[in-house]
Amino acid sequence: MVVRAGREFLAIPGPTTMPDEVLRAMHRPALDIYSADMVRLTDGLHVDMRRLFRTSGHAYIYIANGHGAWEAVLSNTLSRGDDILVLESGRFATGWGDAATAMGVNVEVLKGDIRRAVRPAEVEARLRQDTERRIRLVLVVQVDTASGVVNDIAAIGKAIRAAGHDALFAVDAVASLGCMPFEMDAWGVDIAMSASQKGLMTPPGLAFVAANDRARRRHRDAGLRTPYWDWTLREGQEHYRKYSGTAPVHLLYALRAAIDLLTAETLENSYRRHHLLAQAVRQAVATWTEGGAIAFNITAPAERADTVTTIRLDGGHDPRALQHYCSEKCGVALGTGIGDLSGKAFRIAHMGHVNAPMVLGTLGVVEMALNALGIPHGRGGCDAAIRTLSDNVPA
Ligand SMILES: *Cc1c(COP(=O)(O)O)cnc(C)c1O
Repeated sequence: MVVRAGREFLAIPGPTTMPDEVLRAMHRPALDIYSADMVRLTDGLHVDMRRLFRTSGHAYIYIANGHGAWEAVLSNTLSRGDDILVLESGRFATGWGDAATAMGVNVEVLKGDIRRAVRPAEVEARLRQDTERRIRLVLVVQVDTASGVVNDIAAIGKAIRAAGHDALFAVDAVASLGCMPFEMDAWGVDIAMSASQKGLMTPPGLAFVAANDRARRRHRDAGLRTPYWDWTLREGQEHYRKYSGTAPVHLLYALRAAIDLLTAETLENSYRRHHLLAQAVRQAVATWTEGGAIAFNITAPAERADTVTTIRLDGGHDPRALQHYCSEKCGVALGTGIGDLSGKAFRIAHMGHVNAPMVLGTLGVVEMALNALGIPHGRGGCDAAIRTLSDNVPA
């Protein structure tokens, strides 16, 4: 017996559910890439990306995924043999660091823990030790999509300045941009990057980088620059150069529609919506933990991200059986545990085009799976989630 039909619910942290407006925006003929309309589309999106990152710096749009944007940041600011510091809090900052290692950069990882956020005081202490100022760049993620942590980017920015260090500060906002507050300039971030297929509700294939003047000055003598990623080549007036070739016309139409939706909603409401829906998920999970087999991966409640929740299953219960049940019986795709959490955890994503029925539906299906699989859990998780929402969304 299955109770699935119709559209699958995607509760994975990317690619995320695309709004119908975004899908429809792509159903049209291509644009003449030498036309004024093309230039207008590109110019408007660059303005919007700066607005999303909250920077007066420069924005670049690449045909790439997040891994491409990582490489764009590294190649534009570093030379072979440079030292950088990677702040570990899960899997993604270290993944970015692995790319740097492969490019000939010396990577030091400030050891973290998959169950907690980066400690700004540890960042400050490490940078103070670097009396020769060898560290050129500090890398961190805002939300680590594997661990489900949110790092305090403002506090890390402060710690770097408190150490009196001149390293550039680069932040991965792939799993948070558009969903949680991000303040590139106010938080002292020199370079930020993101991608289209998570909070921005657009197909995979577009990557975004924003850089301030300090980063662009460093860029001038970066030895790892290559023609495709190079900021300088993309900064001129010639439109064709802005994408190092043909523009990804349909993805840009999709992004235009997605940003228009976010603008109509307002970013503030999007942040609030993500926070409330995340609270609903966390209330349900907190109730389920009473059975002893379920736990939050991130131990401190304040360090749990508003875009994805990573849930550990203990006591010999296999999260893959739960995921299999949700997907095969109900058509709900949950995120799998990755890296050190493989076979130990599953993830519920709540980022981008999500609303109360989608989140409550997903939680209902997870609870159904816990029942059907005989996984011990506290009763009433969905009820707790509903109460969180009704308490915070008054009539
Ligand atoms: C998904 C993700 C990435 C990688 O993005 P791809 O588009 O898959 O290359 C990088 N960082 C974070 C935090 C992510 O969630």
